[in-house]
Amino acid sequence: MTAVAGQEEQLWSRCAGCASLLYRKRLRRNLDVCPECGEHSRLGAPERLRQLVDPGSLRLLPDRLPEADPLDFVDVLPYPHRLTAARAATGLPEAVLCGTGTIGGHPAALAVMDFRFLGGSLGAAVGELITRTAERALDDRVPLILVTASGGARMQEGALSLMQMATVSQAIAALREAGLLTISVLTDPTYGGVAASFATNTDLVLAESGARMGFAGPRVIRQVTGRALPEGFQTADFLLRHGQVDMVVQRRSLRGRLAALLAAVRAGRPARTPVPRQEPARDHERLADAVPPAAADGGPPPEVGDAWDTVRTARHPGRPTTLDYLDSVFDGFVELHGDRLGGDCPAIVGGIARLAGRHVMVIGHQKGHTTADLVARNFGMASPAGHRKALRLMRLAARLGLPVVTLVDTPGADPGISAEEQGQAAAIAENILTLTVLPTPVVTVITGEGGSGGALALGVADRVLMLQHAVYSVISPEGCAAILWPDRSAAPQAARALRLTAPDLRRLGVVDEIVPEPATAAHDDPAETARRLRAALLANLLPLLDVPPAMLVRLRRQRFRRFGATRAGAQVGAR
Ligand SMILES: [Zn+2]
Repeated sequence: MTAVAGQEEQLWSRCAGCASLLYRKRLRRNLDVCPECGEHSRLGAPERLRQLVDPGSLRLLPDRLPEADPLDFVDVLPYPHRLTAARAATGLPEAVLCGTGTIGGHPAALAVMDFRFLGGSLGAAVGELITRTAERALDDRVPLILVTASGGARMQEGALSLMQMATVSQAIAALREAGLLTISVLTDPTYGGVAASFATNTDLVLAESGARMGFAGPRVIRQVTGRALPEGFQTADFLLRHGQVDMVVQRRSLRGRLAALLAAVRAGRPARTPVPRQEPARDHERLADAVPPAAADGGPPPEVGDAWDTVRTARHPGRPTTLDYLDSVFDGFVELHGDRLGGDCPAIVGGIARLAGRHVMVIGHQKGHTTADLVARNFGMASPAGHRKALRLMRLAARLGLPVVTLVDTPGADPGISAEEQGQAAAIAENILTLTVLPTPVVTVITGEGGSGGALALGVADRVLMLQHAVYSVISPEGCAAILWPDRSAAPQAARALRLTAPDLRRLGVVDEIVPEPATAAHDDPAETARRLRAALLANLLPLLDVPPAMLVRLRRQRFRRFGATRAGAQVGAR
């Protein structure tokens, strides 16, 4: 709905669906749904909460986080200026509003996103607030309801915003373990990092009429595929038809539906005994104590040159691939295929191999050195089948007691039409959640390109290593430039602003250790690169083998929990 300009602004709106001129009070009485055509206009978080929660029962969670600009991010405007403008425009401190209340008399904790605030983007503060709401649900032993509206991760917070996908997912995992219901309500629009995490890894996923949800946005998919999108692509009805949501609900029925679901769950009994709330970090349980840091070769950590040059090195076609490393770093690789649901994605390879005589499960993105290889492997961009194959192998590894090594080298998950039809967002979301609780050691190496959610789908680990000239980012520099700058030619500036190099990410705590590459880069001396990678893997993996699985999981959760509160506000030191 657009307000009609001029004096009448407060009184009348024009419907975006049927262009009817509507009396605003009538529209509001009708929950901002056009009485003529049924168009559901977008709601801000305060109005949404007012519609969903029983009158008088709402208690807002008062947390307000310190302002943070961890990257000192500047595009055409400094990030703090954008935050200030968003606060002034919405009257909200952040892009999510959280609270507890009752719906039809049933208690719940709720986090409601607001698209008006920087596109509902997921930054460290948003992730932290949603995580705290989930923890509140765990403490109160009540269901969690998430109402999503987001363009995805917040580019201005770089990889730290990517980490929020893991932080919130592990809070959802804790509720799952405790037998507490989680429900997400998809509203228009829900995309990117939010779609590929807590919007789809909840127990139940409801879509409001008119909602659109997807991993990749329609503009990106059109650009990449050069194809017209099918009618109704990514709409609520499309999602229902493709098995990705439990139901499509009209706004006027939403409160009643939620109340009915909450009532049903209250009547049932949780199948499992509740687990205690995730405990805060105990001094004697820091990974640093349980696992001595890997012995460095001495000397200062490796540095890199300009960020854009590093991006180009990371994408060099001669750079060793996962299959190259399986040949050079590991022995006896036995490849395992298939997701058991109907596909075998060539962009992800996985199977059992030996590392210095020990069996491990290795899973990695596969690119290629020639155009033909690259095309056959879809440029290392995994489909939902690829993510589900990886999920199957991770779970198998845990069951067999094998540690997992993942090798990340992808521009991002496949942004295609069929990928969306097959549930790309939910496939990534389930991998992230599963890795947060996988009871076996996990070591990740970013070997080339670590591209957003597709990278994180293999990247939630006890130790995250990164080759010196690899990059890891919430969005490609070209994609970031296209959105925040006048055009894509600003990709080099975007690369610098995103802090996507190994030394930057080591300083931000996203990466634990940098594996030095031989001069001038991995592709110049693959054998020496393999030798160094093998040494780094052994140094990081072997100590993890002695840590009891339950403790490993606890420590892994602490690792991904700290990207919220403690990071927000705490400026990263030297840069
Ligand atoms: Zn209308």
